[in-house]
Amino acid sequence: MSDDQDLATFEDVGTPERDKPPFLRLPEPGKLFAIRAERFAALAPGHQLEGYLAFLGRLSQAQATLAATIDPPAMPSPADLRLRAANAMPVLPREELAADPAVTAAFDQLAKSLADVAMPDLARAALARAVAAEPEARQAMFAAVLADAVPVEAVAEHIFAAAALQVVAASRSARLDPALPQPVADGVCPCCGGPPVASAVVADLNVEGVRYVQCSLCATQWNHVRVKCVSCGSTKGIAYQEIEGIADTIKAETCDECRTYVKILNRRKAPELEPVADDVASLGLDLLVTEAGWRRAGVNPFLLGY
Ligand SMILES: [Zn+2]
Ligand SMILES: [Zn+2]
Repeated sequence: MSDDQDLATFEDVGTPERDKPPFLRLPEPGKLFAIRAERFAALAPGHQLEGYLAFLGRLSQAQATLAATIDPPAMPSPADLRLRAANAMPVLPREELAADPAVTAAFDQLAKSLADVAMPDLARAALARAVAAEPEARQAMFAAVLADAVPVEAVAEHIFAAAALQVVAASRSARLDPALPQPVADGVCPCCGGPPVASAVVADLNVEGVRYVQCSLCATQWNHVRVKCVSCGSTKGIAYQEIEGIADTIKAETCDECRTYVKILNRRKAPELEPVADDVASLGLDLLVTEAGWRRAGVNPFLLGY
């Protein structure tokens, strides 16, 4: 706790300009999904959710293949992008993706590559239903994922829709000039407007102990000082919850102002942590914190069934 506070002070004052961490770190889809696949595979053995984590590892691998083979997605004109950035709007609004033919094409390609992949029977049946869905129903699935309004009875189908959307959204954000997107609001991705999945203290920058929030949809990371609520920006009433004795490298940052929490992963201590995979694998922390009365602000389509 004191470690976190010291570092927040360090970030807030007296950091020389040359050592300022960049505001944005754009995704590298070619690496992102492959690293995530490896992490899911590493987390699975002996875990309570072993079968599910192993399946998500194979799904992430299929996303990696998709990311490496899809056509570069179409982008708005540079003038449109600049106008949105100048108005502090997400430059690639995620809502546009629901009706984007590139998303349907990506979904079809993903489904094809998953045909021979081992998965739980429930997931197999859900994939078959999603593949057989009429175009309007398919579009409604994409829209539900993008609006964080997935119906509880159809979570499994939406995992595949979300997987396709993640690849297209990450591929779009990856094509941006990182200097263009501007801060939009707390808890909102400057690139696509998506909500965060989790945050992480990174280890691979010159400045030590800098925290980035990662977008649940396009995986863009934006800088956010520590000991400050990711959702509402409050610096008061912030506390850290962890599961005693299990992993002090993953904590829930709770906010008494808005009563939500977002996880913070310490990649300085544990560089192998991956925001999406470790978020799923640390489900026990969510159970603990939600039971104590905080609402989860991080969005993770792979956690919706729990
Ligand atoms: Zn985003
Ligand atoms: Zn808050």
